[in-house]
Amino acid sequence: MIRVGMGFDVHRLVEGRELWMGGIKIPYHLGLLGHSDADVVLHALCDALLGAAALRDIGFHFPDTDARYKGIDSKKLLLETMRLVAEKGYSFGNADITICAEQPKLNPHIPAMQQAIAECIGCDVDCVSLKATTTEKLGFTGRGEGIAAYATVLIEKKSL
Ligand code: MG
Repeated sequence: MIRVGMGFDVHRLVEGRELWMGGIKIPYHLGLLGHSDADVVLHALCDALLGAAALRDIGFHFPDTDARYKGIDSKKLLLETMRLVAEKGYSFGNADITICAEQPKLNPHIPAMQQAIAECIGCDVDCVSLKATTTEKLGFTGRGEGIAAYATVLIEKKSL
């Protein structure tokens, strides 16, 4: 049986924070604001995985009111998400992720993000697709107020 899931996340860009996306630190003068490391890419991916397995959402499993998750590396949230998905009998198929950001330019960082995500999931880098787009200076992403990410995943359960 195969199942699909989609995830969406947004974080605000602010001064005085590191910019973590796709499991890596990206050099930029602004960073994403959040209770965790605010890795918008991994959060969208976690939500897509949870959605595919009908396991609610990231806020349900990792509430931002819980001190355990303060400043946490979102790769740990992805690992725990993969554990939950595997517990329900599913294995990872592939992910396709789109990041909407006016700045910084993300294309040079895509291979490293792909690598970090694939290592975390334990899959081939070829199973993790990342795309970056601007929104033509329109909306909050276009004004550089925040970054948004969309993720689609496929998971599968081998029939007995
Ligand atoms: Mg988030």
